[in-house]
Amino acid sequence: MRTRIELTFRQTAAGDEAEAIMRRCVHCGLCNAVCPTYQLLGDERDGPRGRIDLIMQVFEGRPWTEATREHLDRCLHCAGCETACPSGVGYTRLLDIGRAVLARRPRPLADRLRRAALSRLLPRRRLFGWALGLARWSGPLAPKLLGVRVPPRARLRSPPGTELAPFEAEPVLMPSGCVEPVLAPGIRIALARVLAVLGMRVEAVDIGCCGALSHHLDDFHASRRAARRTIDALSAALDRHGARSVAVTGSGCTAFMCRYASLLADDPDYAGKAARVAQATRDPAELISPYREHLRAATADGAAARLVYQAPCTQQHARRLRGLVEPLLEAVGHTLLPAAEAHLCCGAGGAYSLLQPTIAGALRARKLGHLCAETPDGIASANIACITHLSDPQAPPVRHWLEWLAPRLRGGA
Ligand code: SF4
Ligand code: SF4
Repeated sequence: MRTRIELTFRQTAAGDEAEAIMRRCVHCGLCNAVCPTYQLLGDERDGPRGRIDLIMQVFEGRPWTEATREHLDRCLHCAGCETACPSGVGYTRLLDIGRAVLARRPRPLADRLRRAALSRLLPRRRLFGWALGLARWSGPLAPKLLGVRVPPRARLRSPPGTELAPFEAEPVLMPSGCVEPVLAPGIRIALARVLAVLGMRVEAVDIGCCGALSHHLDDFHASRRAARRTIDALSAALDRHGARSVAVTGSGCTAFMCRYASLLADDPDYAGKAARVAQATRDPAELISPYREHLRAATADGAAARLVYQAPCTQQHARRLRGLVEPLLEAVGHTLLPAAEAHLCCGAGGAYSLLQPTIAGALRARKLGHLCAETPDGIASANIACITHLSDPQAPPVRHWLEWLAPRLRGGA
């Protein structure tokens, strides 16, 4: 694609990077076929090719309006287009650069206030816990006033049972995060349980938000602050425990933390530490996969379930980790069922379902329809945003895959 970058962006790091990415695009449109918003809305500007054109328009100094921003806001950051692109266009990075340029012009007041409130509430575990408790206490009032679904209280699963003696010399760090421990504390318990059964030592590290939520909300300063704080805490813990791996249960957080190196490449004080933490960050499926036979051997007798796996976009597109989780669930006796359109986003997208409820709701209904087609006993996923978004009293229970796996192990519950 030919570009005529405006003088103000010439020879700036952002301008050069954006131009290099945009030039790779050959306008073939293959990405539109896998883009959930284009599939749903049918507007070129709500697909990746059109959004690249809109970003180019900004970098070429052509006038842009709030409608331009709205088309970019409707993007789920699912990276499905990046996986499908034959030219290797780094769409996600381009979108980040474009959003940062647009953010220099303030949003309308109501939008600013809504985003500021979410950016302050969601990453603060205690505050979020209180707000959630209040919303649950209010019964149907909060959903009616705020237009959001309030997830039911989590039931703790997988209390510790008998474990093998530790055989891995290095411990695995398990950071706490922000929203997940409030909404589903059983996920980290399940991870600790599975790693313990495999003989791995787990060291919990108390950190707050990794920065992904603020990044979603265009609060780039807060996001970088949270990333630096996380990097400091994890660097110290890696040194203290002699560890090399950080197991992060939320695939959205894993994907964001794996990008620390590029996000902080311009910060001389953090670039090195950011690269180290990014390199150490692992999806639990990456750590557990080599031990599939151990899982099989440690599996308890009793009824397993017919499950369908919903691979979050951050796992299957951003991290390109496909087909790792399903064999682990099968190893402990569960049956995995197929689902159509497995590549399409469910509409959760971090805070997306709160900011774009109509599109998110339509994608949710479509995804649940596919997931429930074979009448499974349950739905497994790997990200708290997807789990919360897809949970529905009329549908089978949606849990993290670790919560389906851990109770199948001897000593699990
Ligand atoms: S698939 Fe890649 S090259 Fe083709 S239009 Fe989309 S971004 Fe451009
Ligand atoms: S990231 Fe997802 S929603 Fe956004 S343009 Fe790409 S495929 Fe479409």
